[in-house]
Amino acid sequence: MGAVENSVIRRRLHVEGVVQGVGFRPYVYRLASELGLSGCVRNDTIGVDIEVEGPSDAVTRFVERLPVELPEMSHIARTELSTIAPSATSTRCFTIIGSDDGGPLLAAVTPDAHICDDCLEELADSEDRRYRYPFLNCTNCGPRFTIVKRVPYDRPNTTMAAFEMCPDCRREYDDPLDRRFHAQPVACPACGPRLWLVAPNGVILETPSSSGFDPIADVRSRLLSGEIIAVKGVGGFHLAVAANNDVAVSTLRERKGRVGGKPFAVMTRDIDQARQISKVNDEEATLLSSIARPIVLLERRGEAKVAPSVAPGLGTIGVMLPYSPLHHLLLEPPMPPLVMTSGNPTEEPITTQNDEALSVLAPLCDALLLHNRDIESGCDDSVTQVIDSRRQTLRRARGYVPRPVDAHSLPIHGGVLALGGEMKGAICMTRPRQLVLGRHLGELTHQATQEHLRDEIKLMSSLLGVEPSVIAHDLHPDYFTSRLAAELDVRTVAVQHHHAHLASCLAEHDLSPDRTVIGVIFDGTGYGEDGAIWGGELLLGSYDSYRRVGNLRPVALPGGDSAIRSPYRTALAYVLDALGPEALDLDLPAFQAQPRRQLEDLSRMIDARVACPLSSGMGRLFDAVAAILGVPGGLADPIAYEAQPALELEALAHRAKEALRETTTYDFEIDGGGEIDTRPMIKRVVEDVTKGTAPEVVAARFHETVVLMAELAVCQIAGAEGIGHVALSGGCFHNRMLTSRLSARLEGSGFQVYRQERVPCGDGGLSLGQAAIASVWMSNER
Ligand code: ZN
Ligand code: ZN
Ligand code: FE
Repeated sequence: MGAVENSVIRRRLHVEGVVQGVGFRPYVYRLASELGLSGCVRNDTIGVDIEVEGPSDAVTRFVERLPVELPEMSHIARTELSTIAPSATSTRCFTIIGSDDGGPLLAAVTPDAHICDDCLEELADSEDRRYRYPFLNCTNCGPRFTIVKRVPYDRPNTTMAAFEMCPDCRREYDDPLDRRFHAQPVACPACGPRLWLVAPNGVILETPSSSGFDPIADVRSRLLSGEIIAVKGVGGFHLAVAANNDVAVSTLRERKGRVGGKPFAVMTRDIDQARQISKVNDEEATLLSSIARPIVLLERRGEAKVAPSVAPGLGTIGVMLPYSPLHHLLLEPPMPPLVMTSGNPTEEPITTQNDEALSVLAPLCDALLLHNRDIESGCDDSVTQVIDSRRQTLRRARGYVPRPVDAHSLPIHGGVLALGGEMKGAICMTRPRQLVLGRHLGELTHQATQEHLRDEIKLMSSLLGVEPSVIAHDLHPDYFTSRLAAELDVRTVAVQHHHAHLASCLAEHDLSPDRTVIGVIFDGTGYGEDGAIWGGELLLGSYDSYRRVGNLRPVALPGGDSAIRSPYRTALAYVLDALGPEALDLDLPAFQAQPRRQLEDLSRMIDARVACPLSSGMGRLFDAVAAILGVPGGLADPIAYEAQPALELEALAHRAKEALRETTTYDFEIDGGGEIDTRPMIKRVVEDVTKGTAPEVVAARFHETVVLMAELAVCQIAGAEGIGHVALSGGCFHNRMLTSRLSARLEGSGFQVYRQERVPCGDGGLSLGQAAIASVWMSNER
């Protein structure tokens, strides 16, 4: 028996997932060697191919242990196991076979990762040759996606090609047992990138080599004295300033043209320092310290040690931990938390190049900390939050891109390119069983962002080794992405905006095409099948098709987009709709700031339906209520940043919830066709405001009402259609109170609720849904 069990066998494992460029082959080598197995491991175009040979019990142990002891950055999506004949030769060793350049290495490029513990130890070890070296990294950590120019993922195809390895680095790079075996960005002070400090006029202030000056020490003392420093990081430049210095932060705000208060993110040294400025629960701490190191939106402490000008008007603050060795060095004690805001002209792509920084950022800062490791693909910091112990991704970029969404239940083949929408641009490409969502690009109304999108298509085609054969785009004829689709010489399909949101949620959860769900899709703006603006939608369907089974009562938007920028216009339309012409005489803060003539002109426009598109957008309802309540973002003309009124309204509601446990709701009606009439609610809101009810209370009642209307609408549809699954998507679900309360209520009524976690529910996740829908349509044709 024993002889049979321990007979020599050879097994082949083909592994797909995040298995290249993450120390996977050295890991396999060590595991096989430890178990005394012979064989080989090699990268191929879609993953890693392993052959192991030895006594059957050792081979079995290898197969069992392989997925359990993985290196931190790797992830196995799929393994194929087969038995092959033992080799005739008697070699008893295990070998790593180098990459062949025969074809594109589809699985090669992984997201940028936070510096690992081993590297951190070296950074702090005065005996180590990389002591305090800001660019140290290994196979388990460091830059990846941002430095890749093309595949295969090998050093000559990255921006590290400019640096020739010194003999010490080369030895580590070539040693299969070294932590730096085939770590493409490997570097040390003798051979790698370096830092230098430049004045805004371009004059070099200090370099590490010039008479022992340490630019990091200098930058630290400048930050401590309130200077603004442009710091080149992993995915682009940040503007850094001490977050506890209100004068300095306000100066940055003025220079950046963000006087109105778009919140700045803050970097803290560690979780303890994060706890000084915000509440951090266990899930949030885990997310903060994950290798992606995203910004996490946290509840700000009342006595927070950050300047009021960091995030005015909001109860939350975006916090991240240091993710590059340079950040760790900058934040050493006694450094306070630093504002680290993207170095870019507002809403344009993040600045990545030194010369670009010297022209664009120099006017905003007091000095620039530059380095010569080029950034190939600019990547903003990702933004996340935790709602009910679950992650939500608001902006998906550094640390997450280009990690694919695995789709096993969907007919996903290669060659679909989805272009997304207009706001929060991000493209998605498919390859077999995977949807690969690209980085957050920004607003596609800017030409610079449009150029990035074109570059992104080229880069992704090269990374995935597929040329697009079908292009999916939004139904909106005037979006840049729709026009681009028409330009490219490939078959195109148009996907309705909210259908794409629905499909994005389904695809993230890998739901199969035969599952029908009720979609609660709440966002600001999306082009409807009828040419109107949609955004408060109840859809019934799947990838293949949908029916609109409910929606908010449409209201005219005087001036279209200008109503979105100036919410008092939307408020006027809502109040006129609910109360008629007497609305003009109401004593509401939103109207007091405007000349009577202007209000009368707008109301005539609304009556005559001139330049007044109809909108059923939930985002507009939030705008209107915020303006009626008179929160700063509701009165702003124009608003300082997208969704400002809604964010401030939510901050108010949270305060009332905590203090008063407010659960009153306003009236509304749902008709047989599923249209939700909000006029009774608007009347009551106006009454409350004119009565002098605290704005916090009105904000909380409004949130409760939105939750109730969604719940009742879902129950009505579920009753008629016999559907028990609900998908929540659309940018309004970034609202923590709405997402949490609605999920709880629906789950309490027995519904299975799907919401988006790794993929944004806002327009940043749109292309994923478009790609899934187009793939299903293509497969139906076959
Ligand atoms: Zn490392
Ligand atoms: Zn070196
Ligand atoms: Fe949307």
